[in-house]
Amino acid sequence: MNQNNTTGIYIHIPFCKSKCPYCDFYSMRADNELKDRYLSAVIDELATFDNVKIYDTIYFGGGTPTEFGADRIVRVLNFIRENYKLAENTEITLECNPQSDLLDLFSEVMATGVNRISIGCQSIHDNELKSLGRLAKINDIEKAINDARKAGIFNISVDLMLGIPHQTKESLLKSLQFFIDKKIPHISCYMLQIEEGTIFQKRINRLSLPDENSVSELYEILTNTLNHAGVNQYEISNFAVKGFESKHNLRYWNLTDYYGIGPSAHSLINNSRYYYERDIEKYITARKKIYDGNGNTYDEYIILQLRLTNGLSLTKLKENYGFAFAKKKLTVIENYVKAGYLIEENDNIKLTTKGMLASNRIIADLL
Ligand code: SF4
Repeated sequence: MNQNNTTGIYIHIPFCKSKCPYCDFYSMRADNELKDRYLSAVIDELATFDNVKIYDTIYFGGGTPTEFGADRIVRVLNFIRENYKLAENTEITLECNPQSDLLDLFSEVMATGVNRISIGCQSIHDNELKSLGRLAKINDIEKAINDARKAGIFNISVDLMLGIPHQTKESLLKSLQFFIDKKIPHISCYMLQIEEGTIFQKRINRLSLPDENSVSELYEILTNTLNHAGVNQYEISNFAVKGFESKHNLRYWNLTDYYGIGPSAHSLINNSRYYYERDIEKYITARKKIYDGNGNTYDEYIILQLRLTNGLSLTKLKENYGFAFAKKKLTVIENYVKAGYLIEENDNIKLTTKGMLASNRIIADLL
């Protein structure tokens, strides 16, 4: 189905067992009372949706959505099913952290349609997990994968991280091989960012982080290893066996519509962007979507399409926005091609692996 005719729904679940020291996502510990009040607010917002549209991706992100509990997740999904049209093969993703007690929850949510699980693993090594303040161990990771499959969910994604304190080429290779051996069909791998206001930012001088060159080498190992194993790169940080690419995340890069529910969630609707403030009480008691300017603009299209390995189509750029790169920018592209950062293939320009590592600079030069 063409995603231009459909809409996605992102539901932010801002609850976590504890706060990881590098994390900047909006999340907190919560008791059942707060979770119930939040559930009511989410359903109130869902009740305002357009019932003419067809929804084909639903994504529970966080936070740690499993902290919301199976019953509340099921109630949200039932509400959507009872009131709106879902496409056949709607992708319904639930993020979780590796824990040993997820089988019942997976079984319950699977029965209401969750068909994709995204597990925040980050690494399989105790020393790396410990340095990230992660609670899980390799056994929990293994158990979560097995439990998803036991519950009948085979579309599994794992999150890994690059540039973790103590990470080496060997440790990254072992993490990758572990998930390749487990036949995980989707892997996301983001670089550790030191975000403002986090504990990591305060401790930055005491963290033994790999330097920039080492991170570049790790990135090359990542792309080579996964591509070689048939888990093909389709976006700067995302890899999938053919057919397992994340339909929901492709919305972000292809600039197709999605509603974002919950504090800190962003939406793109009819070429306008909106967001909610990072304040759960405000969301529950005085929900107000804030307009965040035009979306699907010429600049956004270049920025987001270049993240994809399919690259940026110059014809589509012209078709969508009435013009493509001016002569001066074509020279910039030519220079990046000569230097090995971009490739031109037919009508498309694409970042090479070297280009992906310098994508911010290249994209800035093209705008
Ligand atoms: S579990 Fe995820 S969302 Fe929660 S604090 Fe850790 S990194 Fe952030």
